Amino acid sequence: MTTGLSELDSRYVWHPFTQISQSALPIPIVRAEGSVLYTQDGRAILDGISSWWVNLHGHAHPAIAEAVYRQALHLEHVLFAGFTHAPAVELASKLAAILPGSLERIFYSDNGSTAVEVGIKMALQYWHNQGIPRTRILAFEGAYHGDTFGAMAVSERGAFSAPFDPYLFPVEFIPAPLPGSEELALDALEKALSTGDVALLIYEPLVQGSGGMRMHSAEALGALLEKAKDYGVLLMADEVMTGFYRTGSFFASDAIQETTRQAGSKTEGITPDIISLSKGLTGGAMALGATACSQSIYEVFRSGKKEHTFFHGHSYTANPIACAAALASLTLSLSNETLQAVKRIEAQQAEFVKMLCGQERSKNGIAQNARSRGTILALEVATAGASSYFNPIRERIYPFFLDRNILLRPLGNTIYVLPPYCMTTEELASIHAAILELLEEAQTW
Ligand code: PMP
Repeated sequence: MTTGLSELDSRYVWHPFTQISQSALPIPIVRAEGSVLYTQDGRAILDGISSWWVNLHGHAHPAIAEAVYRQALHLEHVLFAGFTHAPAVELASKLAAILPGSLERIFYSDNGSTAVEVGIKMALQYWHNQGIPRTRILAFEGAYHGDTFGAMAVSERGAFSAPFDPYLFPVEFIPAPLPGSEELALDALEKALSTGDVALLIYEPLVQGSGGMRMHSAEALGALLEKAKDYGVLLMADEVMTGFYRTGSFFASDAIQETTRQAGSKTEGITPDIISLSKGLTGGAMALGATACSQSIYEVFRSGKKEHTFFHGHSYTANPIACAAALASLTLSLSNETLQAVKRIEAQQAEFVKMLCGQERSKNGIAQNARSRGTILALEVATAGASSYFNPIRERIYPFFLDRNILLRPLGNTIYVLPPYCMTTEELASIHAAILELLEEAQTW
């Protein structure tokens, strides 16, 4: 039965990030609830990565499902140029109220990559409309911002981008402010800023996700952002992964604002000029992207000249069903229950890191660089090869967990846990136990 669907799939479907020569048949999922995915052949798999980080409140959440159903019966879609609708307006006003700083204009799209594309285009056209020759873009080494061409261009170049490198616009990569590299990053940034023609600095605040869950402090990033702001550079925080409590604060940018405010150099603290959101925006129920910008950016597009228009839009821009799902998810996100769950998960992840770091095996052993930030936990499994997405140990780690009915998708030899907030203490403990078991077993690999 299972093989029937899997085989039909492998006859007709092309899956993302999947080497077709090597892959096992895909596992048919028939339903999901809370943190658990149910397979066609009766297994219950614990979703330790929120299905590529989208699922915030658990699968098939009744409040989100209900909102989707009601909206679908009422208004499923309408083009968003010349028309509007209540879910889009309500969502924009609610996001504007909670986003940091003066981010109060929301431009909708339909995924994380497009939310990034929109932000890059907004920033470049902001300078263009004013006739100011700022065209250079800065990003961090190890960055990942998506798979469309613009998003790829601002992401670290490597095997993912190699076939397309000649077609990607130039971006200057500076070291990320990882522990130990703070000064290097600041020096590189100062050098890059010195000519005064930088248009945009794009960054994943606090955690570089696909690049290996690389974490840096709010202080270190704040210092860089402050410097870039001094040079008038637009700051774009890509919060596609970090938004909605993933790193502990509601937005990662909130923690940076708070840190820089406390440091006292800028009274209000440093906030970005543009933020891209997706993934958790709808709690994982619908595809939606949103790019928020400040009113002052928006005003530069108001003009008697038609060519100053932002000529960008997608067929599904602000899809009403997706906006309704986002509204329902946002209500859940803003509840005290979610805040308590986030704190609980944060504490449990931090405790596990502490335990790993305290263990003999993590000192010179197999677990390296165990770390957590908010609800995200990560560690490297030491291997003979370098830490990288292509580390072959990944091909043993992934099935190890799956055999135990746990979905973790390591990034090479980096194991990470990024759970939905409904995950119980016992469920998370079972993932931690499986990681310990893997660390024991990996010593014999
Ligand atoms: N930005 C970041 C920080 C991401 O982590 C991702 C996806 N992993 C994207 C953008 C792209 O989002 P999407 O996959 O929805 O295009």
